[in-house]
This record gives sequence, C-alpha cells and structure tokens, in this order.
Amino acid sequence: MSAVMKEPQISRPVAQFIGSPKKLLIDGKWLPAVSEATFEVKNPASGATIARAAEGDKLDVDAAVRAARRAFESGPWPAMTPSERSKIVWRIGDLISKYTDELAELESLDNGKPVAVARVADVPLAADIFQYMAGWCTKIEGKTIPLSVLYTPGVQYHSYTRPEPIGVVGQIIPWNFPLLMAAWKLAPALATGCTVVLKVAEETPLTALRLGEIMQEAGLPPGVVNIITGFGETAGAALAAHPGVDKVAFTGSTEVGRLIVQAAARDLKHVSLELGGKSPNIILEDADLDVAIPGAASAIFFNHGQCCCAGSRLYVHERLFDRVVAGVSDQAKTIKLGSGLDPATQMGPMVSEIQRDRVCSYLELGKQEGARAVTGGKAREGSGYFVEPTVFVDTKPGMKIVREEIFGPVVTVTPFVEAGDALVHEANDTIYGLAAGIWTRDVSKAHALAARLKSGTVWINCYNIFDAALPFGGYKQSGWGREMGEAVLDNYLATKAVTISL
Ligand code: ADP
Repeated sequence: MSAVMKEPQISRPVAQFIGSPKKLLIDGKWLPAVSEATFEVKNPASGATIARAAEGDKLDVDAAVRAARRAFESGPWPAMTPSERSKIVWRIGDLISKYTDELAELESLDNGKPVAVARVADVPLAADIFQYMAGWCTKIEGKTIPLSVLYTPGVQYHSYTRPEPIGVVGQIIPWNFPLLMAAWKLAPALATGCTVVLKVAEETPLTALRLGEIMQEAGLPPGVVNIITGFGETAGAALAAHPGVDKVAFTGSTEVGRLIVQAAARDLKHVSLELGGKSPNIILEDADLDVAIPGAASAIFFNHGQCCCAGSRLYVHERLFDRVVAGVSDQAKTIKLGSGLDPATQMGPMVSEIQRDRVCSYLELGKQEGARAVTGGKAREGSGYFVEPTVFVDTKPGMKIVREEIFGPVVTVTPFVEAGDALVHEANDTIYGLAAGIWTRDVSKAHALAARLKSGTVWINCYNIFDAALPFGGYKQSGWGREMGEAVLDNYLATKAVTISL
C-alpha cells in the first residue's frame, strides 16, 4: 500500500476505494471468497501491489449462479415493466458519468492507460452504452405472423412471437478496457431482462467492482448482476461450464474462446464470442497522408496496441511506402511513455509483466525472422511494464509477427504494387476478421474494397470509431455474434412462437 501513497496524483475517493477489501458481489452482498483466498492487484506502471481482490472459484461461481437464477425466476426483476427497467439502466449510465474522474483514475491505476484517455473514451463510452440500451428496454417487440396452414382448410390461426430474455448469462471479460467491456456486456443483458454473473479479468478487477457499487446505487435489485473476481482457469472455467448458466458471452483471446466453446458444449449453452484480430490497415496511392499517417499510428498505438481490432498489419502503396514508414516511425518516437496517472503520458505500460514479456518475445521473434525494427523493438528499462512503440519493415507474409496477434504496440508495414486481387488476398489472408482500415480519397474505391474485406468492421479514413449504436464483432475466428447496436440484443433473447386456433 505504501507504493500507492507515493503516487501523488491519487485522489481521495480512489485511495479510499482501493484501501478497502475488494470482495465478490453475490446476491446484492459483498462477500469474501468461500476459500477466503485473495490475489494481488498491481499498478503496471510501477509493479507495486495496490490492492488485494477476493479470489473467487467454483464455489463462489456456484453461489453467484444460484443468486442470478433466483433473480431471474422470482424477485423484482422479472416483475418490472420495461419502463422501470429502462430507468435503472439509464441511471447506471448517469452515475458512471457522475463518477467519471474517479473511474478514469481507477482504470488508469489498474490497467495502465493514460487517465486522460480513460476520461474521454472508456468512461463516456461505458456510460453511453447503458443509456443507448436503456432505450431498447421499451422497444423489444414481437411480431404477428399470418399463417398459410394448407392441411387445415377453414381453420384460422393467430400467431405471434415473444422475444424473451435467454436467462442466466455468464459473462467473461478481458483487461484491455475493463470498465468498457463490463458495460458492453452488462447493458444489453440488463436491457433484455437477463440476469448475470460477470467474471472480470484477474489483471484489472477494480472498475468493474466500482461499477457493482454504482449499479446498487442505481437501484438494481440484488442478484441481477453478480461479480466474481478470480482467475480464468478456475472461476472463468467454472462459469463457462456451469449447468445453471443459459448463455456465455466472452471477450478475450481466440485461444480461450475455443476453451469456452468446449466448456459450454456439454450443455449446448448459447455462446457469443468477441475474440482476437490481426487487422489490415490499407493506405491506397491517393490517400491524404496528413490524415493517413497519424491515423495509421493511432490505429496500432491506441491503448498500447492492446486492442483486438488494432491495425497491426499496415499495407502501403509502394510509392508512399518510405514516407509512411518514416511518418509512422516519427509518431512512434514522439509518444511519451509513462505512468497513466501523469497527465503528460501518451502511452502507459503493458497491463502486466506477462503481457510485456509476451510482446517482447514477438519483438525478438520478428528480428529472428528477418524483419527490421525501424523504431522501438524492445522493452523500456526500469520499473513498470513498458514496451517501446515498434515499427517493423522487411516483412514476409509467413512471418509470425505478420500472422499472430501480438496485442502490443507493434505494427508490420508491407508495400503493395496495386490495389487489386493480390492486395485483397493478402489483407484477408488471416484466421481473423475483426476490423480493417482503408485510407483513400476515392469514394468508389473505398466502398468497393470495403465490400471485399472479410471483417466485421471497416473504417475508411478513420480508425477505432466506436458507437453504442454500431454493431461490432468478427468474421472467421474473430468471433460469433455482435456487440452493441440492435444486433447485440440477439445474443440475449430467445424467440418464442405462440399460435392459437381461433
Ligand atoms: P488475454 O490473453 O488477453 O489475457 P484471455 O483470453 O486469457 O485474454 O482472458 C480473457 C478472460 O478470460 C479473462 O477474464 C480470463 O480470466 C478468462 N479466462 C482465461 N482462461 C479461461 C478459461 N480457461 N475459461 C474461462 N475463462 C478464462
């Protein structure tokens, strides 16, 4: 705790929050783990332990699932009108906005991201998804369907559909946008009337726990959202396999996504997945480089490259190649690394020692494979888990740094000769299909290319633009289903068809 007190920027509410024991939220009560075990929560900018969180496991998950089941079947939640539910969901968004400074600071401390970024991106987007979803509560409607039953001539039927909440949902989220990922998952589940057990990432439990308090303040009944902190192999695996869970919604690595599917398969639970990416970002010959160069740099370096949709494979028309490499490298060199709590910081540390080492192993691998780091290429000396923003050239399509998700500030830049089939093939030559970027002044080319890229999102002359109303998700091994927008409601609803003979 002494390391925390040395951080001059920590405000009183945040110091108070991390200074009190961090427990599990089960059935409206804050409880220690049944085992009473706890684990360390670290500040990645210094490596110091800032708090201890309850280490929930199978027994705690079981208690949480039972609480969620009770809240789904009986109690005030299922009896509420859509309008009453909507007001609570809206209020959660309001309270997130009210506590913006505290949440941003907490996120920065726990995850490492610059507090200024959390204040303008993570927290407002988290508030907004609750308020967007609050609107859906009163607009989830069925249809009446005229029948043509040929074998019962003369008999009239009246048929309609009822979209119903799917039930108890197990949600498992990652550490790259801890509050925002919790919000993306919880808001639509609440809007549809489901109840939830949320398993947060062991690296970053703090803001989701604060969100738990906020949801209580907003008037969410006990048991509707239960929050488990703990490890993936224990608490996460228990949740994915729990027979009392009707649906699992996961965001994280493709590797763990496969484990989730296997765990859920036994009971044939519904599963939605938002997984990894290796997104192509394409600068065409006519691009406006004043926009494309900073855009390409931000596409990979935003959130320290710890984004599933990071523009990690940059393809540049050969005539622009040298200028773009120089431009993106210049941007990389000027990025100020430091503690997220320092207002001057533009890039914080990797979230953990493990993640720093993982990224560094790719930096070494890239060099061994024959790629050249124009800038960066190593971890920063000293305390904290910092990695220099890195630009690799001299790449080949088969290299691991081109094929595998690094989840760090590392971009490969590859020239192309023509924006034709070969480029489309290379851009799509990946197991992933989450996002893609195109930079061009030619509207026709932009739309034609957007249609050919196999990815759930295409950004043109921009990157990393998210909105609560825009569906987000992957093709291929980047996932199943969509987050946000009207599309996410499908993840949490089951359609019942009702027919009456008149
Ligand atoms: P990353 O590789 O980016 O750390 P992971 O996919 O490992 O992301 O983790 C995302 C979330 O999945 C975390 O909450 C983590 O605890 C959880 N998790 C990890 N392994 C498992 C597992 N075997 N079963 C269920 N959840 C898991």
